[in-house]
Amino acid sequence: MNFPLSKFRNTTTPFYYYDVDLFERTAKTALTQANKYGYIVHYALKANANERLLRILSGMGFGADCVSGAEVQRAAACGFDPKSIAFAGVGKRDDEINLGIDHGIFTFNCESEQELEVINELAKAKGKVATVALRINPNVDAHTHAHITTGLAENKFGINLWQLDEVAKKVQRLSNIKLISIHFHIGSQITELEPFVELCRKVNELQDQLEKIGVAVEHVNLGGGLSVDYHHPDEKSIPDFAGYFAAINKTIKLRAGQKLHVELGRSIAAQCGSLVTKCLFIKELLKKNFVVVDAGFSDLIRPALYGAYHKIENLTSPSTESKKYDVVGPICESSDTFDKDVSLPTTQRGDYLVLRTAGAYGEVMASQYNLRSLPKAVFSTDLK
Ligand SMILES: *Cc1c(COP(=O)(O)O)cnc(C)c1O
Repeated sequence: MNFPLSKFRNTTTPFYYYDVDLFERTAKTALTQANKYGYIVHYALKANANERLLRILSGMGFGADCVSGAEVQRAAACGFDPKSIAFAGVGKRDDEINLGIDHGIFTFNCESEQELEVINELAKAKGKVATVALRINPNVDAHTHAHITTGLAENKFGINLWQLDEVAKKVQRLSNIKLISIHFHIGSQITELEPFVELCRKVNELQDQLEKIGVAVEHVNLGGGLSVDYHHPDEKSIPDFAGYFAAINKTIKLRAGQKLHVELGRSIAAQCGSLVTKCLFIKELLKKNFVVVDAGFSDLIRPALYGAYHKIENLTSPSTESKKYDVVGPICESSDTFDKDVSLPTTQRGDYLVLRTAGAYGEVMASQYNLRSLPKAVFSTDLK
């Protein structure tokens, strides 16, 4: 990834910089690899809902995965076919459900028995039939950070296995919803393929189980979760989509005519984005050196929230010597630290620093805490 520094100088920091070419190549690779097996890829808007990026994906033929009514609206406004929109989330409001029914979305991914009843009622009031998926909690350990593990029985997500038969039978009695899919999502930033393989094995068992009670679905949706390499953003700028889809294909047993869906967020958007910030001050103490930058956790919260790692680089230092610094923001909390003991070339006031691999769960999670402005987005294609 190249950073057009001379162009940056006209833009107020901090801001997100998106390499549109890398974004397109990543998305295209994901589609090409999925197409080998006839799989359908939905893009998870919550990773990055920037309209420019969404329009690129809808133009390529991605489906959408949404977790709020506003995301459903944004997806439709940015050109995604409503019939490709999956709507997940453990707490959907009535107005959000109504919006989905009005758009005729692909599926409501339902997480509880009560939710199914409510969707049935709301669809009945409109004289419509809503298509639904059961989000099943498969109790598969994704071996990722506790905050982003979602597929264990102790998590709030999905319908637990012991309830499944009862819930599936219930759906058949409700006349304004139609069960067309089973949905899973076991977590995010899953670095090994094994949890996905285990998920596929579970899905095979569950399909047998559902068949025994006369339930057949046209779609199987495996959710998202494929990881990116935060430590090597340039060496591995495009995730291993080929390996991921091949592993699924090797294990999953689809029924005749059944379609397989995945929902990828982070793996599509993360590597193309960086948070660009400027060094305000250097503080050299007895035991520590601090680089105080003008970005804070209001711009990028992942390090404060999950202890997440983002590679930090100094774009402008001419120094050949390096020093260890804690890179911190201006917000009045000690958690406003991007990383500790980072080795950087000797850094000075005015230097430009970048936090890499920030295209997913970066800009979308920004807040105005301390009444700070929201960071802006700058696109490589605008700077040419
Ligand atoms: C967050 C989420 C995704 C995307 O996860 P990534 O790890 O970003 O790929 C997909 N499906 C659902 C239901 C989600 O909540």
